[in-house]
Amino acid sequence: MQHSLPPLTPGTLYLVATPIGNLEDITLRALRVLKECDVVAAEDTRRTGQLLKHFEIRKPLLSYFQFNEAKRSEEILGRLGRGERVALVTDAGTPGISDPGERVVKAAVANGFRVEAIPGACALIAALTASGLSSDEFHFIGFLPHKSGQRLRQLESAKTIPGTLVLYESPYRIGKLLVLLNEVFPDRRVVLARELTKKFEEFLRGTPGELLGLVEQRSLKGEFVVLVDGKPAGATS
Ligand code: SAM
Repeated sequence: MQHSLPPLTPGTLYLVATPIGNLEDITLRALRVLKECDVVAAEDTRRTGQLLKHFEIRKPLLSYFQFNEAKRSEEILGRLGRGERVALVTDAGTPGISDPGERVVKAAVANGFRVEAIPGACALIAALTASGLSSDEFHFIGFLPHKSGQRLRQLESAKTIPGTLVLYESPYRIGKLLVLLNEVFPDRRVVLARELTKKFEEFLRGTPGELLGLVEQRSLKGEFVVLVDGKPAGATS
């Protein structure tokens, strides 16, 4: 365990994980990096501005989101080349996990810059570890494609994967996803991890059919991670 606090390294890209709902879930190291870096590249500068304000941090912000990643990656590389320390944050959780980040990380690595992860909240890990499903082996799918044919094909192809399947889904499509899961995995255990780290956090467990009934009764809102038990031992599909 290292206790000393070396200064940030010039020309480094820091991937800073931020809370997924509960502001207490930010690490001391994340706060120090945000305080000591030269610039914060943020998915949504307004949201990150509010987070920084909460922790009384003032820092120049640069927008970095899905549709300006290519252009902004160039700019970030330029800054790293000038020895700046750049922190990258997304709206919530760990950058690069179903969030922008991968492109600039690849470019930074390809150009020989140092990249450091500042670990912290990640919905996938929080959901998996508390789900009660196997965490020995798991397969992170993230968001399924929007088109229904492609969604079905991707789930069908996941049938033979032995570990727990983990998906992200928007609250607007959770019912539709359960209908699809009921088609593809009618007998598997499914866990809906809802509003993790927030006031109304809950884990709903059952078959897709049982959960569909629940969602219809309660019209569940909020953010969800959806976990599907892995292929039963000995099953061929
Ligand atoms: N980078 C983030 C991470 O580390 O988890 C994920 C960002 S992704 C754009 C947003 C999705 O993550 C949501 O649609 C939901 O599936 C999941 N998510 C984020 N926060 C959550 C929470 N508090 N509870 C449940 N799921 C959450």
